[in-house]
Amino acid sequence: MAIKLKEAGFHDFVILEKADDLGGTWRDNTYPGCACDVPSHMYSFSFELNPGWSRMFSPQEEIREYMRACVWKYGIDPHIQYGKQVVSLEYTGREWEIVTSDGHTMRANAVISAVGALHVPKFPEFGGEFAGPAFHSAEWDHSVDLKGKRVAVIGTGASAIQFVPRLAAEAAAQLTVFQRTPPWIHPKPDFAIPDRMQRLLKLPGAARAMRNGIYWALESRALGFAVDPRLMAVHERLAVRHLERQVPDPELRRKLTPDYTIGCKRILISSDYYPALSRPNVSLVTDAIAELRGHAVVDVTGREHAADVVVYGTGFKVTDALQEQRIVGRDGVKIQDAWQDGIEAYYGITTSGFPNLFFLLGPNTGLGHNSVVFMIESQVRYVMDCLRLLSRTQARAIDVRPERQRAFNERLQERLNRLVWTEGGCRSWYLDEHGVNRTTWPGFTFEYWARTRRMKPDAFELIY
Ligand code: NAP
Repeated sequence: MAIKLKEAGFHDFVILEKADDLGGTWRDNTYPGCACDVPSHMYSFSFELNPGWSRMFSPQEEIREYMRACVWKYGIDPHIQYGKQVVSLEYTGREWEIVTSDGHTMRANAVISAVGALHVPKFPEFGGEFAGPAFHSAEWDHSVDLKGKRVAVIGTGASAIQFVPRLAAEAAAQLTVFQRTPPWIHPKPDFAIPDRMQRLLKLPGAARAMRNGIYWALESRALGFAVDPRLMAVHERLAVRHLERQVPDPELRRKLTPDYTIGCKRILISSDYYPALSRPNVSLVTDAIAELRGHAVVDVTGREHAADVVVYGTGFKVTDALQEQRIVGRDGVKIQDAWQDGIEAYYGITTSGFPNLFFLLGPNTGLGHNSVVFMIESQVRYVMDCLRLLSRTQARAIDVRPERQRAFNERLQERLNRLVWTEGGCRSWYLDEHGVNRTTWPGFTFEYWARTRRMKPDAFELIY
């Protein structure tokens, strides 16, 4: 967003960052084995291709380096104010008043919320008290030495399947993995990209061709997501074969076989998770957790599983994260009241009653099949279009018309109701407490791109 603002000649902006460094997800998540599960040539900016990615799925530190390099190359750092957690956004009728946790107040014509959806750790509430160290995967405590320890891991989502193999092989004497719902897992086509190939990718057009190839390969997976859940059968067969090939023990295989349609929860990719579970120092517990007690995790059957350390791989507060913020729009309306029937926006970018407030990765713009960087770039272009309209018309603000937002969301939910996230027979963070999908885009990403390529001024009220 900042790069595109500068390119378009908007220089009077600040980026407020709660932490003391940049990187978001790729700063916070430092657990062993942390990497992106989207190929790096696609999980990067289309205007800043990197022929030098070391792997198909690059590790966390390399992605963070890439972000640092972008900030440096495009001169963004002078715009960033670190240690500025926004605690309140209020529309005064003329502009936005922004208050940060250090007590500062500032004013701006427009606010772009780029806070993401996966950064507020979720801790399940078990009874009892654990006597040893316990931490969340997104707040990894590197001061705790796991070597030779008995480690309990709670959760088997995208994060856990990355660090479980590493802990099992390199650290824990005994690893107990607590699984509530088995994930569907595909093999991970990961490999180190040889120097020769990196050099080839520097040739004109090569990195672009590679990116395009990956884009279309990933996009083809949207058929099952966006058209008909029955088309997920081919993905399910691949996952079943992967499980059968990697887990010879029928009892373990039974525990690891999901009972819902693949894609209902995020499809995970890993080639080392199943083998890790077959190791002699690893056990998989599928009985629910009753409580943590002393140096043990106690399951509902009353069995105690000894543990020196507990690691929570239990994910993030997603649909309620935006709702917990203090955002006050036109006529003093709080965002919680505007969203009392559920969070929604127009193309995930603007929400009625909150003029000149734009979201990146807002409601219903997440994906199950491709890179969200593609969605973010579409949103950035759309916001730029809105800002240009403001400049052109000299309007003070724009506010999406409520009837347009309603019609858009009715169509969106009609489509989503038939799709795998709702129909697949699982409960996931894609759905809110009423079972309504508030997180994913129901179609192909090129449809989103085409629909957001130009903003439609008639969908907005211009405020002078
Ligand atoms: P997650 O996918 O939400 O997984 C959380 C896990 O904790 C699930 O297995 C869940 O079980 C389990 N859990 C939650 N409460 C529990 C309880 N009370 N008792 C037992 N188990 C419990 O979280 P995540 O793994 O941190 O990943 C979150 C998202 O971050 C992913 O979906 C993905 O979008 C993103 N992510 C991406 C990457 C990447 O490489 N791009 C890597 C990591 C994460 P249930 O399934 O039964 O709820």
